[in-house]
Amino acid sequence: MQPRMVREDGSEGRKGVGPLIPPLQDSLRPLRQQVFERVRAAGLIPRVQVAKDLGVSPASVTTLTSELIDAGLIEEVASPRDGDAGRGRPAVALGVRAAAHRVAGMKLSDREHTAVIVDFAGNLIADDVIPRRPGPMPLAEILDAIETLLNRVCAKAGIARSDLSGVGIGVPGFVDVAEGMVLWSSVLLDRAVPLAAAAEGRLGLPVSVDNDANLVALAELWFGAGRALADFAVVTIEHGVGMGFVMNHRIYRGSQRLGMELGHTKVQLDGALCRCGQRGCLEAYVADYALAREATTALNWSHKEGQSITVLLESLYDHAKAGNATARSIFRRAGRYLAVGLSNVINLFDPALIILSGERMRYDYLYAAETLAEMDNLAINSGRPRPPIEIHAWGDLLWAHGAAALALSAVSEGLLAPAREIAAQ
Ligand SMILES: [Zn+2]
Repeated sequence: MQPRMVREDGSEGRKGVGPLIPPLQDSLRPLRQQVFERVRAAGLIPRVQVAKDLGVSPASVTTLTSELIDAGLIEEVASPRDGDAGRGRPAVALGVRAAAHRVAGMKLSDREHTAVIVDFAGNLIADDVIPRRPGPMPLAEILDAIETLLNRVCAKAGIARSDLSGVGIGVPGFVDVAEGMVLWSSVLLDRAVPLAAAAEGRLGLPVSVDNDANLVALAELWFGAGRALADFAVVTIEHGVGMGFVMNHRIYRGSQRLGMELGHTKVQLDGALCRCGQRGCLEAYVADYALAREATTALNWSHKEGQSITVLLESLYDHAKAGNATARSIFRRAGRYLAVGLSNVINLFDPALIILSGERMRYDYLYAAETLAEMDNLAINSGRPRPPIEIHAWGDLLWAHGAAALALSAVSEGLLAPAREIAAQ
C-alpha cells in the first residue's frame, strides 16, 4: 500500500486548531461516575474528602452521594474519629455497597480454565478451576466449559447464576474488547469468533471479553502494584508472550483495540516459526512451546503425543539447575531474547515499572542477572536509571481477578455512564 501524501496548505478556510476530542472522554465523565469511582478507589472516604479530591463543592457531592445511596451502589459507614474514640458522634464515611452486585471473572487458557466471583467492592467470594486437554477447541466446546465452570463457582459461592450482574472472560490472542470478538486465539479453532455474544446467548448474562495479558494489567491496576502508577507495563510469559500497558491509569488498547502484541514483535528476520504463522516473533523464542521445541531437539528427547509440556519444561529446568550445559543454554538464549523485547518496551514507552508475570517466571534463568544486564545494554543510554523490574509469579487466579475487574467496570459504566461505547478501564 502506498503511503498517502498529505499536503497542508491551510487554504481551506477556518477549521479550528487543537485536538478534536469527542465529548464524554475521561475528563468529562459524569460527576456521579467520578464520585463513585473515587469512593471505590478509596475504600472508605468522608464526603468532604471526595469534594476536595474532585475539586467540586461539598453540596454537589452531598446531592450525588444521596443519589448513589438511593440507587444502592454506595453506603454510609460509621468510622471512629481519630483521637476521641467513644466520645461524640462517630464520623461517617462512604464505601461501595459490596452486596449491590456480584460478577464472575474467568481465564481460559491452554492448560486449565479458572474462575472467581467477586462482590461489588472487589472482594473475593469464591474461586474454582477445571483442567482441560490442550489444543484449540470449537466454540461449542468452549461454551460448554464456560457454562460448567460458571455453574461450579456459583455453587461454591452459594448463589444462583442469575444473581450475577456480569461476566468477564480473558483469552489469549487477538481480541477486540469493544466488539467482544476474538480474532485469533490459541484456545479456539476458528478465527473471528464473536465470543461475548455467543457466551451471552448461552449464559443469559452480560459478557465482556478481553485479551488475557490486558486483564493481568487490569488486575495490577485494580488490586496490585499498579494502583498508584500512571504508566506501567505487564509482560506475561506463559504459553505465549503478552503485554498489557497502562497509560495514564487506563489500559492502552490501540485504534483497533489490537495493540501491545509484544509476543509478535519481530526479534529476528526469517527467524523461528511462531504459532501465529509468521516468523521471528519474540514468542517463538521465549514461550513455553519454544523452550519445549528446543528441548526435544537439543536433548534428543522424543516428545510423545499427549505428553504435558509442563512436565517437559520442569525436566528441562531440573537439568539446567543440575548443570546440564545444553539445558542452561536453552534458558539463557530465551532470556537474551526476552531482554531484547523488554529493552524495546523501555525504549518505546519509558514505563515507571515493568512487571513480569506468569507461570514461566518460576524459571529464574529467564530473568537472571545476565538477562537484566543484556536489557540494560540494549535500552537507550540516557544517563537515567532504567525502570524497576518486578517478578510476580502469581497464578491464574490473578488473571481471573482481572477478568472480574473488567466485568465490574462494565457493570458500573452501564449504571453510571450515559449510553455510549463502553471503554473498559
Ligand atoms: Zn507470532
